Amino acid sequence: MAKLLSGKEVSERIKEELRGDVSELKKQGIFPGLAVIIVGDDPASRVYVNNKKKACEQLGIYSEEYALSGDTKEDELIRLIENLNKDEAISAILVQLPLPKHIDEKRIIEAINPKKDVDAFHPVNVGRIMTGGYDFVPCTPAGIMELIKESGISPNGKECVVVGRSNIVGKPMAMLLLHENGTVTICHSRTKNLAEKTKNADILVVAVGKPKFVTADMVKEGAVVIDVGINRTEDKKLVGDVDFEGVKDVASAITPVPGGVGPMTIAMLMKNTVKAAAINKTKSK
Ligand code: NDP
Repeated sequence: MAKLLSGKEVSERIKEELRGDVSELKKQGIFPGLAVIIVGDDPASRVYVNNKKKACEQLGIYSEEYALSGDTKEDELIRLIENLNKDEAISAILVQLPLPKHIDEKRIIEAINPKKDVDAFHPVNVGRIMTGGYDFVPCTPAGIMELIKESGISPNGKECVVVGRSNIVGKPMAMLLLHENGTVTICHSRTKNLAEKTKNADILVVAVGKPKFVTADMVKEGAVVIDVGINRTEDKKLVGDVDFEGVKDVASAITPVPGGVGPMTIAMLMKNTVKAAAINKTKSK
C-alpha cells in the first residue's frame, strides 16, 4: 500500500504557521484582508467560497464576500474589482471561477491588480511563473509542490507527467516541476498512447476532471501519484481522477480525495493572502 500524502495534515501545519505570521504582521500595523467575489449560484463554487472564508476566520484574516446574482453585467463586476483594487484594507482579490457565460473571464482577471491577484491568474503573474521570480503561484500547483516537498519527494531529475493543460492547474504545475529540475511531459485530450506516457512517470499529476480516469495499469510501480480531480458521483460521494483503490497498490505515494490536494489549495490561498498583505502593506478596515 502506497504512503498516503495527507494534504489535510500538511495544510493544518501550514495554517498554524500562517496564524503566527498574521499576528506578527498585525503587530506591524499590517492587516491581511481577502475579498471573494462569487457570481451566480453554482453549488460547488459556493462550497469553495465557504471553505475559503472559514480558513480566513481560522487564521484571523479579515474577509469580505460579494455574492452577485447570475445576471450581473460584466462592467458592474469590473467596477467592483476597480474599487477593491483601490481599497487599502483589501490585500487580495479572488473571483471564484467559472463565471457565467456572458462574462469574459479573461477581461475580469486582467482587471485585478496583479499585486492583489492571489490566484495568480493575471498575465503579469502568469509571465512571472514562466520566467521565475514570482510572488504568487496558483494555489493548486503551489499546494502540490508543498505537499511533495513535505513528504521528502524531490522532482529533481525525475520523469514528471502532468495530465491536463488548464491555465489553473496543468500548465503552471508543469512549470513549477520544471523549475525544480523535473523532466516534464504535459498530456491532454489529443495525446496519443496516454498510458505509455503516464507509465513512464516517476511523479504523475492528474488534473482531467474525469472520475477514476487513471487506472493501475497506467501507473509505474513506485510512482508518486497526485490526484487533483474533484468529481461528485451520483450518490454525492467525492472521487478523484485516479482510481485510488487500484493505484494505491502500485504507487509508492498517493494523495487521497478528499483530504489530498483540496486542503493544500486553500492553505496556499491563505499563504498568498498573507504575502499580498505584506506587499501591499494593507491597513485595518
Ligand atoms: P479543465 O477542464 O480546465 O482541464 C482538463 C484537462 O484535462 C484539459 O487540458 C483536457 O485536455 C484534459 N483531458 C480531458 N480529457 C482527457 C483525456 N481523455 N485524456 C487526456 N487529457 C484529457 O480542468 P481543471 O484543470 O480546471 O481541473 C481538473 C480537475 O481538477 C477537475 O476535476 C477540477 O474539479 C479539479 N480541481 C481541483 C482543485 C483542487 O483544489 N483540488 C483545484 C482546481 C481544479 P484538452 O486541453 O485537450 O481539452
